[in-house]
Amino acid sequence: MKKVIIIGGGISGLCSAYYLAKEGHAVTVLDQSDISTGASFINAGYLTPSHFIPLAAPGIITQGIKWMFNSSSPFYIKPRLDLDFFKWVWLFKKSTTKLNVEKSIPVLKELNLKSQHLFEEMLASLDFNFYYEKKGVLMAFSNTKSEAEEHEIAHRALKEGLDVTMLNKEELQKIQPVLSDNVIGAAHYKCDSHMTPNHFMVTLKNWLKNNGVTFKVNQEVKDFTAKNNQIVSVTTQTDTFEADDFVLVQWQLDITFSFKIKFKSAYSRR
Ligand SMILES: Cc1cc2nc3c(=O)[nH]c(=O)nc-3n(C[C@H](O)[C@H](O)[C@H](O)COP(=O)(O)OP(=O)(O)OC[C@H]3O[C@@H](n4cnc5c(N)ncnc54)[C@H](O)[C@@H]3O)c2cc1C
Repeated sequence: MKKVIIIGGGISGLCSAYYLAKEGHAVTVLDQSDISTGASFINAGYLTPSHFIPLAAPGIITQGIKWMFNSSSPFYIKPRLDLDFFKWVWLFKKSTTKLNVEKSIPVLKELNLKSQHLFEEMLASLDFNFYYEKKGVLMAFSNTKSEAEEHEIAHRALKEGLDVTMLNKEELQKIQPVLSDNVIGAAHYKCDSHMTPNHFMVTLKNWLKNNGVTFKVNQEVKDFTAKNNQIVSVTTQTDTFEADDFVLVQWQLDITFSFKIKFKSAYSRR
């Protein structure tokens, strides 16, 4: 049994806590908030093997720059005058190549399918209950340019072994009669599913509390200590926490902090 600290109690942190607790480890979740709000509670709840195109794709930079300055966008990164920030943007831009997209597609698809499978596994365990339905996702389009794009992605999805059908307007109307008249068709990804994040997060958190996981809320991790190239403790504004292993699962940390962690070998195991 190991003592494990998870930094970040969003969906990634709580799911990591679930599997680590099931394996018998002593788990503590540290979070700067009280773990009751945020993206993991309010997102759309889609589990989408269909979303296998990486964000770092050609053409994303123009869209991405707009998103980066909008705090409610799916890709918000707080802009700042910081060398590491510009370095990160530069590296991101460098990776938006066709070759990288091709290399990433099978990996993302596999990750999405495995993640979806884990939700089904959690549901089947009957440890806690949550809403889950697999009736697919419709990617609708209202002009021929979008239709061609969706067609291309659907074609690639078929090549990746995903269950997708292209629907014309009449076929789409039968499945979803309330769409606007402008919609001319859709790609129906039957492989996709959805759940209700808020309910999931609350019931999972309760299960974790009832099964020995410790929560330390309103604790912002500000630094960590490494010995022999291994992280041995993390420091918050009030305390220092020691553990055998540390899991850093959230991605909204200050970029300088992330770089520092990388430099000091985060994710290292003893
Ligand atoms: C509008 C919207 C819709 C979305 N729809 C979907 C969807 O349909 N399907 C899908 O798969 N994804 C969707 N997403 C994305 C999804 O919500 C995120 O990928 C997911 O919530 C990320 O979870 P996380 O646990 O990695 O991070 P978070 O939920 O952000 O959790 C990170 C946690 O770390 C804590 N933290 C941060 N810094 C520190 C620190 N220094 N010390 C201690 N704690 C810290 C934060 O307080 C937070 O609780 C959507 C996102 C948005 C915004």
